[in-house]
Amino acid sequence: MSSESSEHVLEVLNPATEEVVATVPAATAADVDAAVARGALAQTAWAALAPGERARLLRRFAVAVDEHLEELARLEVREAGHTVGNARWEAGNVRDLLDYAAGGVERLLGHQIPVPGGLNVTILEPLGVVGVIAPWNFPMPIAAWGTAPALAAGNAVLLKPAETTPLTALRLAELALEAGLPEGLFQVLPGHGPVAGNALVEHPGVAKIVFTGSTAVGKQVLAKGSALLKRVTLELGGKSPNIVFADADLEAAAAAAPMSFLDNSGQDCCARTRILVQRSAYDRFLELLGPAIEAVTVGDPADEKTDMGPLISKVQLERVRSYVDRGADGIRGKAPEGPGFWFPPTVLTGVDPHARVAVEEVFGPVAVVLPFEDEAEAIRLANATDYGLSGSIWTRDVGRALRVSQTVRAGNLSVNSHSSVRYWTPFGGFKQSGIGRELGPDALTAFTETKNVFISTEGPAQ
Ligand code: NAD
Repeated sequence: MSSESSEHVLEVLNPATEEVVATVPAATAADVDAAVARGALAQTAWAALAPGERARLLRRFAVAVDEHLEELARLEVREAGHTVGNARWEAGNVRDLLDYAAGGVERLLGHQIPVPGGLNVTILEPLGVVGVIAPWNFPMPIAAWGTAPALAAGNAVLLKPAETTPLTALRLAELALEAGLPEGLFQVLPGHGPVAGNALVEHPGVAKIVFTGSTAVGKQVLAKGSALLKRVTLELGGKSPNIVFADADLEAAAAAAPMSFLDNSGQDCCARTRILVQRSAYDRFLELLGPAIEAVTVGDPADEKTDMGPLISKVQLERVRSYVDRGADGIRGKAPEGPGFWFPPTVLTGVDPHARVAVEEVFGPVAVVLPFEDEAEAIRLANATDYGLSGSIWTRDVGRALRVSQTVRAGNLSVNSHSSVRYWTPFGGFKQSGIGRELGPDALTAFTETKNVFISTEGPAQ
């Protein structure tokens, strides 16, 4: 919450300048209540539409997003401090998610299961009203990860964006209406987590909560949701390893390492913030990493040449600062001084593997480099975390790549690459990184209940 935000108003700041971008009324629990009632009405009519018609309207929504891509991207730059290149990708991701989900409406298939004495079919029915609680680190894509498949499966969606980043979500809701989606079907409720977010979680009329954010709040959402047996999907934090074996293409591994934890200023649940390097290649890797970190351009996110912008808020800046001792050994890049929530790219060496910075999610541009001796130690270190979201393995040995992929306990791994998220492949975490999966071919099914119907073929009893 910014210093001027209050119970009733959210003040949106530009993180690069600290200037006020907008003030937005904060939704109350009564607003949530009214939105649930409107959503339930809209959902009944939406679910009754022909599947082809629902798909057509979602495609029109995708076209509207595409036609306003630059406007949405510039809004994201202003409210979240994202580089303009990233922000364009994010708006494009919303469009693609809507298109992909639209393709699923007419393919939401049940089963016909052989049984004696009749016909048995399963039907995938919508849940009803779904609450999506989104974070500030990827306001548009993460909102759409829940919203697009939920709508496609026949549900209504109430989206609560993060306090600091409500503007793109509000604009998306306007575009949905312009594209012809029915009133009340997709509503945005900007507000405070403990008020509007909590009201969604506790509302008996909300069938499912899709939550992305901190592990601490995620656990509260799960506990409160369970009192109503609510369906809950959680996408939480990460402390992902980037494992570099001595047999890897070290030049490629070192060139790719900086943006694997600096993209979005490190405010990425998949950030590879634990760089594990085989001891025999450790010195060479650091020699290569130094210039790669120094070459990262940190500055005005609206400038096309910028690689990394500011952190989201003063609160986040202070949180990140608390992890880095001034005199700690390592590599530091440059960041602007003056207004804005700036922190330089930082790689720490000589860190105790049990130190806070080596085990907790920093959610800033900070990584640690830890040496390991052999494959067994690499796996032990990689798994020595409560989290299990992502990770990367750099090696030229195919057998090793497969062995390590099979033993690292995380939901999204990449070999000789840092890619984690594609809208058509499943995404989610092991351990404290979450529950459930989003995206991928089963995304719509996660927003349905399976109903089994048996139809007897026996004649009436004689
Ligand atoms: P948060 O968990 O407080 O906020 C995430 C979302 O949950 C926001 O929309 C917020 O308003 C809402 N929320 C907060 N309290 C709630 C409640 N009681 N009931 C319902 N909804 C509630 O996260 P934060 O404080 O913005 O960030 C703190 C840390 O969380 C970060 O430093 C980072 O480590 C982690 N984080 C992770 C992700 C991720 O992608 N996994 C995203 C954001 C933050």
